[in-house]
Amino acid sequence: MAKQLCYTVIHEIFSRFQAAAPEPKGELEHVNLFTLVVAVALSAQATDVGVNKATRGLFAVADTPEAMLALGEEGVIAHIKTIGLYRNKAKNVIAMSRILVDRFAGQVPSSRAALQSLPGVGRKTANVVLNMWFGLPAQAVDTHIFRLGNRSGIAPGRDVATVERAVEDNIPAEFQLHAHHWMILHGRYVCLARKPRCAVCLIRDLCAYEEKNE
Ligand code: SF4
Repeated sequence: MAKQLCYTVIHEIFSRFQAAAPEPKGELEHVNLFTLVVAVALSAQATDVGVNKATRGLFAVADTPEAMLALGEEGVIAHIKTIGLYRNKAKNVIAMSRILVDRFAGQVPSSRAALQSLPGVGRKTANVVLNMWFGLPAQAVDTHIFRLGNRSGIAPGRDVATVERAVEDNIPAEFQLHAHHWMILHGRYVCLARKPRCAVCLIRDLCAYEEKNE
């Protein structure tokens, strides 16, 4: 775990991320808020590519809670069985749809507490939805952000909650909205788990990782 980088260095890191990708986008496909919540919930312990493959067919036939209920659990399973933990996830998608219809008039709620009251929606999923759809600077720490935060010194911490706080506390306000996507994309494509691509990394001179690859 690297030491926490100082404000000036973190500011320069995010200035570079911003210059390279002014409007970074997440890679989970969705057609509305409901399908975004479903896609994020399905992405736990699965890759975005794998989830997108499964949800293209699913969302073509069910893009509302009502349509998802009509499709039923077995119908959802038929679309998502290539995704890990699909049985449990299908159960949650149906239970979530039922609650949205019964308690929220078929609409996805916009508070963190209400989102987290939905089956299959934890703090991370709620934060991704608040960030991607509602534009709040909510920080969801996934495996890529956890690794990059610790290696680089942007947001070091032994557990996800500590890294989440470090991201919120240490990244300057003007970068908070997009910090989530910049860090995920940098972790996914450059700061790779096994062999980080330090030679082509745009923050190499600022990163605190001591075992950089040539
Ligand atoms: S220099 Fe290497 S370890 Fe540091 S952020 Fe870039 S890829 Fe990751």
